[in-house]
Amino acid sequence: MSIALGCIADDFTGASDLAAILARSGHKVGLRIGVPAADDVSEPAPFEVIALKCRTEPVDDAVAVTKKAANWLMARGADQFYWKYCSTFDSTPDGNIGPVAEALMARLGTNQTIYCPAFPENGRSIYMGNLFVGDVPLDESPMRDHPLTPMRDANLMRLLAPQVQGKVGHIAWPDIAQGAAHIAGQLRGLAYNGIQHIVPDAISQADLAAISEAVQDFKLITGGSALALDLPRLLAAKGSVAATDAEIIAPETAAGNIVLSGSCSAMTRAQVADYSAHAASLRLDPLALADGPDALAQARQWLASQDPDAPKIIYATAEPDDVALAQEKLGRDKAGQVVEDALAALAGDAFDLGIRRFVVAGGETSGAVTQALATDRLGVGREIAPGVPWCFANRAGETFAITLKSGNFGTEDFFTRALKMLD
Ligand code: ADP
Repeated sequence: MSIALGCIADDFTGASDLAAILARSGHKVGLRIGVPAADDVSEPAPFEVIALKCRTEPVDDAVAVTKKAANWLMARGADQFYWKYCSTFDSTPDGNIGPVAEALMARLGTNQTIYCPAFPENGRSIYMGNLFVGDVPLDESPMRDHPLTPMRDANLMRLLAPQVQGKVGHIAWPDIAQGAAHIAGQLRGLAYNGIQHIVPDAISQADLAAISEAVQDFKLITGGSALALDLPRLLAAKGSVAATDAEIIAPETAAGNIVLSGSCSAMTRAQVADYSAHAASLRLDPLALADGPDALAQARQWLASQDPDAPKIIYATAEPDDVALAQEKLGRDKAGQVVEDALAALAGDAFDLGIRRFVVAGGETSGAVTQALATDRLGVGREIAPGVPWCFANRAGETFAITLKSGNFGTEDFFTRALKMLD
């Protein structure tokens, strides 16, 4: 089987989000952790999603690893690509959304793409080029205080322009509302004028359906996950992928469970508070972790003393003021790194203690934990919340379940609800 759509995601929660949305079509979706080896002989699925951890890497590193991922996908037949980033356009003035898109465009020999992070089902919409989270502009949402990618502007054209060499353009909602053929015409007009990077407005899933239909032949599409919802159907209609009914996978796993949270997003903070009320909980302090090995050793001891089957949570999740304090003392990267390293080490311990159900909150955190569990391929199961599926993998001959929750996804009772689904 060859790959109909090769997808590359800039973080792990984003990859599982995209995989869940594509899997709603009933087509088989592969989720790979990192670029698979060149000699990987596993049968590719028609939709393959490669999860990278390159959102906040230096631009050159992000470009290099995404090109490597694209080459792997191309070698297995992919000639259309999807570059997936967060529905809140998480990036810095340097990138990496724009530079990676531009590098992929060059690699694929195409001169236009779209940027559409909208995810109406999760309250992300774009109007007149401005991204809204619920009813507030992005820069008034909690993303304003994100530890790694604080978003201080809501205008996607202004956010994108410094990240790319080419020209940035916009298709406004009144044009989007006229449907796919009209949008395709608008895109051709913009291409004729040498405008390569297009932000389309989208306030509903119907808008996204029209946009995806208009760009269904594009070599490269970029956006959040919701834009991809109709792509399997569109590609099947063109004959790029055979119709299938892949079964939703739901293997049995042992009952031992843990929640690991390194996300400081507003929704995660509410989720951690909700879960801590009835679960054993341990808070990690980045300053103590940076101070020497004792803090991690104590956390490991705490974990080892817990009943594997009882609800428990280890979190570094903190309020913006505490995050700012840790960053001021340690630097942004170091503060994030000590937390990620600790949660990764604790995930490995948890597995050794017989825990087989992992709920992980945070994109970067998910990358660290998944890498620690040394898994390179995940099966995509049922969605717990829009864009957050249970995934399944093997380690040392044992199946374990893991869900990777992006910071602002899910409802307050997400952790409880997720674990209940496996009972
Ligand atoms: P989200 O999905 O909410 O963006 P991420 O895991 O991607 O979550 O990013 C959160 C980052 O903040 C991680 O690098 C994490 O290690 C770091 N972090 C977590 N807790 C703290 C804290 N208390 N102080 C500073 N940084 C923290």
